[in-house]
Amino acid sequence: MTAIMRANRSHNTAPERALRSALHCLGLRFRKDYRVEAAGLRTKVDVAFPRIRVAVFVDGCFWHQCPTHGTMPATNVEYWRAKLEHNVDRDRRLTKALEGEGWTVLRFWEHGSMVDAAESVARIVSRKRLDHAASNAS
Ligand SMILES: [Zn+2]
Repeated sequence: MTAIMRANRSHNTAPERALRSALHCLGLRFRKDYRVEAAGLRTKVDVAFPRIRVAVFVDGCFWHQCPTHGTMPATNVEYWRAKLEHNVDRDRRLTKALEGEGWTVLRFWEHGSMVDAAESVARIVSRKRLDHAASNAS
């Protein structure tokens, strides 16, 4: 329990590394831990494609309360409930803020297949690159 709690908002977790290496295998280049600010909210995007504005997050099951593994600690229940609800709420506001500035936001649970996640990212990136090229050509 303490190990996972210390991992709050940590970067470069094993699932993130798995996603990045799967993206590299697909030949994609990206920025990691890319700092952005949207509507006054600051964050680091786990995997970012800044030119075409695609932001990818790998959400930890505990910290972001995934429906399958989002457990609530048995002690200090009120503290944890407030803290975790705050996290989930912040995720939502952050996604909205980024979308409001033209980003496409993709969130994947850390328990999922990072190979599948990378394929979804690749599909969206290639579509956005086409749109981007088309709008710049006109
Ligand atoms: Zn999970």
